[in-house]
Amino acid sequence: MTDARDPVSSRNTDDDGQPGNFVADRVRADLASGAKGGRLLTRFPPEPNGYLHIGHAKSICLNFGLASLAEQGDTNLRFDDTNPEAESTEYVEAIERDIHWLGFDWGETLFTSSYFEQLYAWAEKLVEKGLAYVDERDLETIRATRGDFHHPGQDGPHRDRPIEENLALLRKMRAGELPDGAAVLRAKIDMASKDLKLRDPLMYRIKKVPHHRTGDEWPIYPMYDWAHGQSDAIEGITHSICTLEFVNHHGLYDWFLRALEIENPPEQIEFAKLALTYTVLSKRRLLQLVEQGHVNGWDDPRMPTLAGMRRRGFTPEAIRAFCERVGVSKSDSTVDISLLEHALREDLNATSPRRMAVLDPLKLTITNWPEGREIEVELDNLPGDPSGGTRQVAFSGSVWVEREDFMEQAPKKWWRLAPGNEVRLRGAALVTCEEVVKDAEGRVTELRCSYDPKSEGGEASDGRKIRGTVHWVSAAHAVDAEVRLYDRLFLAEYPMAGDGDFLQHLNPDSLEVRQGCKLEPSLATLAPGERVQFERLGYFVADPDGTPERPVFGRTISLRDSWAKIAKKLT
Ligand code: ATP
Ligand code: MG
Repeated sequence: MTDARDPVSSRNTDDDGQPGNFVADRVRADLASGAKGGRLLTRFPPEPNGYLHIGHAKSICLNFGLASLAEQGDTNLRFDDTNPEAESTEYVEAIERDIHWLGFDWGETLFTSSYFEQLYAWAEKLVEKGLAYVDERDLETIRATRGDFHHPGQDGPHRDRPIEENLALLRKMRAGELPDGAAVLRAKIDMASKDLKLRDPLMYRIKKVPHHRTGDEWPIYPMYDWAHGQSDAIEGITHSICTLEFVNHHGLYDWFLRALEIENPPEQIEFAKLALTYTVLSKRRLLQLVEQGHVNGWDDPRMPTLAGMRRRGFTPEAIRAFCERVGVSKSDSTVDISLLEHALREDLNATSPRRMAVLDPLKLTITNWPEGREIEVELDNLPGDPSGGTRQVAFSGSVWVEREDFMEQAPKKWWRLAPGNEVRLRGAALVTCEEVVKDAEGRVTELRCSYDPKSEGGEASDGRKIRGTVHWVSAAHAVDAEVRLYDRLFLAEYPMAGDGDFLQHLNPDSLEVRQGCKLEPSLATLAPGERVQFERLGYFVADPDGTPERPVFGRTISLRDSWAKIAKKLT
């Protein structure tokens, strides 16, 4: 199931940087033939019932990317807000923020709810044409008489109601004179159609629920199928791009537009949804994670939401590059999450300053360091650091080192700290561990080392080779921080597989919070969202929960893929 396509050959753009996929080919052909009057207008139509996730990013990149195929090409943002119970202004604003962050812009934000009046007028038009009727039976009965693939549906008793009666009933529905569930408006198409969607689909249901934009104005709300194509038509959308589950809505999409005699109707084109290993992508399920407290909100850095990924330290560039690499196809497949992680590392590697931080600190004291002496070490920035050159870092006779860089009973070829080993404190000095101090429980609390005074800068004056280098933070200058280490939210490669009970696959160790981590002082002033590589440890991002006095960092991603190794061992 894993999509192992070569990341380069399945790219979403041609060599000239133009969108290159089957949807783009269709659009190009239409532009060349003048099929849509030479126009190009796409739309991204989220329902404001949750936050956007990485799957939506694929659709956003596709729709906004296509617009570049024509000089006058454009993309609308339209909220598909026809289910008032689940929708809110909070979601509208979060979605706008996330699309902007991803790097796309649009004109005025549009809403299906702005078209309620027009949609209603068109519904009356269909009634007047004898193409819609009011059915007063309950939904269960309507469903039960729809038939299935093997059996035709049955015409209901209200199907041949006179037009005037239908119109009067529809107006009553509109006026709020009928209670919830008392009636629905249905298109009058064909109860025996092979296309099940054409078996007199619902157009309106009564729902006396206030709407986040229209308040109590409407006691009836249009169904998705009735709202969507017609909203596309109102806006003059030329290509209405949606995901594969709408293939079976295609006939109905076209039927409504024909029945309304819309000129130059929009055209629906379907593509495959993005699915990712170790990930659940569905607003409904993500909402469940939020509501049941499995994560700390929609922007929890472990969430595949754009807000979560932003907080995690993802760059919009990495997400766009990923979307480009997965391409656009006509059949469903699951993309390996390592492709997303690869795009992320590639971007962070090119853009992150390198700094030193110690996440599991162990005190290292240089016993022959002159009492109270503090110096500035001129450190070479690591390769890849966009600032290049060097930086000044305070150093003193007492530093923090990473606990895992010390081993008391070290094997051969352990070049890091161990009794008797000479090791380089990066860029500062060569030290040799002389004594290991332990507490009552036998836990190592301090390494007492000597240093070679002629090794300042980290190299021996006699040219002897020192193979081990460890990073450090000066104890007198260190900034204390909280560091949050994230791991995958789900342990299963396909969390929805089997019975669909994805919660059973939650990783209980997806969040580890470390207190008392030690940072190089310059890290205290990073603004929330600023990214950095902690040397040897991974990519990290300043979290908005932090303050200059007490910074909080989150790990965006490790330097290398440790999961690949673990997964290999398990198989
Ligand atoms: P969800 O099931 O996550 O709620 P949805 O399709 O119901 O997704 P909408 O808000 O209706 O969410 O989606 C807006 C647009 O994003 C639609 O055109 C939809 O097809 C597209 N989209 C949603 N999920 C994905 C995905 N995983 N990959 C690509 N496009 C997607
Ligand atoms: Mg939906």
